[in-house]
Amino acid sequence: MSFTELSKQLDTYCTPDDLQLVERSFEFAKAAHTDQKRKSGEPYIEHPLSVANYLAKMHLDPATIAAALLHDVVEDTSVTIEEIAKEFGSDIANLVDGVSKLGKVRIRKDFSATIHPDDKLEHTVFHSFSRQVEILRKMFIAMAKDIRVILIKLADRLHNLETLSAVDPDRQIRIARETLEIYAPIAHRLGIGEIKGRLEDLAFPYAYPKEYQRLQKMVGNKLAAKAQYLEKVKKVIQEELDKADVKGEINGRAKHLYSLFKKLEHYDYGLDQIYDLVALRIIVDNIEECYTVLGIIHKLWKPLPRRIKDYIAVPKPNGYQSLHTTVFCLDGQITEFQVRTRAMHEQAEYGVAAHWHYKSHPKEEKAPPHPNPNELSWVQQLADWQNKFHNTQELAEALKFDLFQDRIFVFTPKGDVHNLPSGASPIDFAFAIHTDIGLHCAGAKVNHKMVTLNHVLQNGDMVEIITSKKSSPKSDWLNFAKTSHARSMIKQTVKSKAGVL
Ligand code: MN
Repeated sequence: MSFTELSKQLDTYCTPDDLQLVERSFEFAKAAHTDQKRKSGEPYIEHPLSVANYLAKMHLDPATIAAALLHDVVEDTSVTIEEIAKEFGSDIANLVDGVSKLGKVRIRKDFSATIHPDDKLEHTVFHSFSRQVEILRKMFIAMAKDIRVILIKLADRLHNLETLSAVDPDRQIRIARETLEIYAPIAHRLGIGEIKGRLEDLAFPYAYPKEYQRLQKMVGNKLAAKAQYLEKVKKVIQEELDKADVKGEINGRAKHLYSLFKKLEHYDYGLDQIYDLVALRIIVDNIEECYTVLGIIHKLWKPLPRRIKDYIAVPKPNGYQSLHTTVFCLDGQITEFQVRTRAMHEQAEYGVAAHWHYKSHPKEEKAPPHPNPNELSWVQQLADWQNKFHNTQELAEALKFDLFQDRIFVFTPKGDVHNLPSGASPIDFAFAIHTDIGLHCAGAKVNHKMVTLNHVLQNGDMVEIITSKKSSPKSDWLNFAKTSHARSMIKQTVKSKAGVL
């Protein structure tokens, strides 16, 4: 990575004045970090340069790029935030200050005092829970002030993951898991699909090495065969688009490995049940053409029932828009298509970051209307609330304000995190820990209180499962078990018991 590369990137959308500002901050950072080296042995400046370059690819404004170059200066050198303000103005200084404040996570003493009373939770046990809550708390405060701080932080995390092999194994696992549990969901919630996917794929092999290798073996060959197949489909579609006089960009796309892993868990590793292992994405100029293209696809091939999704008419909560359909395609192979405009594509890849695009959208197309003008009101609310909480327990409650709309994360008493679908019950949690724990689940405590097994778990809950050898699955568990793993295990045991009677 060199400064020339970065300035080439900036040249595509910045003025000479902007470029000068960025160059000045580069020289400043380089001088401040001189003599410092990364764990990998590279000169330290490589890191801020890579972070800045990543954000430049997203066409973020020059202040963000400058702040990215300076983001570790205050934390890691003798330069003060006042000097940055004097040299580069308050906007850039505030961004650098915001990122620096996120840098160091210290656990507030009063936090440990409340959840860690007499119930003999080991200190380390509690530590990981507090740490995650504390990171989230800081992220929310920073987000509410200026979302660009989080964008820099996410790019920072991305480059740290890219160079994670140089770090000790203990830290590798911690950083990788924190990425999957906190940073990637935040990227998702902000609609930044590009960063979310890359964070997850980079963290996955460190966080779950065995599962990663297993999955790679499973999909490796299939993906290569699918890629060839998609080329054939692409030709057919291209011809039809030409006939209809629609200019479209057609891309084949392999599913991110980590999201595939999550999906496979859901389908008990039935790879054949997953149709969107690869998908074709068609990007067109306007909304009318999206529907024209959908019509062309459905005229060529029969769609699968219930797989047509119109996220243009009804966008996802994070602003995502596209048409999705899955069809019996060439040679009867089931294939997914996604159709969207260029602006929708930017929204899908960059989410809130798309709104910070500098001279962003082409003239012929307006920026996508966001479904909710107060898209970040939830961030503000959470940041306001957090001051009122004096302990982790209450804050965890506040986190139920649902950062992860369709998924929740739930803690074991040891602080391990499990990601479950929203609406999940203690039974789902028990099976997520271990099949045997699910099979002998007799009761559950949520945040230290006994609950019934049909209790609906909330984001941030700490759940303890009580097991008994005599206990076994009941058929009414099926009324509230949500994960397919739990459901299939319950059905299996209930059936075999019925057979014996
Ligand atoms: Mn950094």
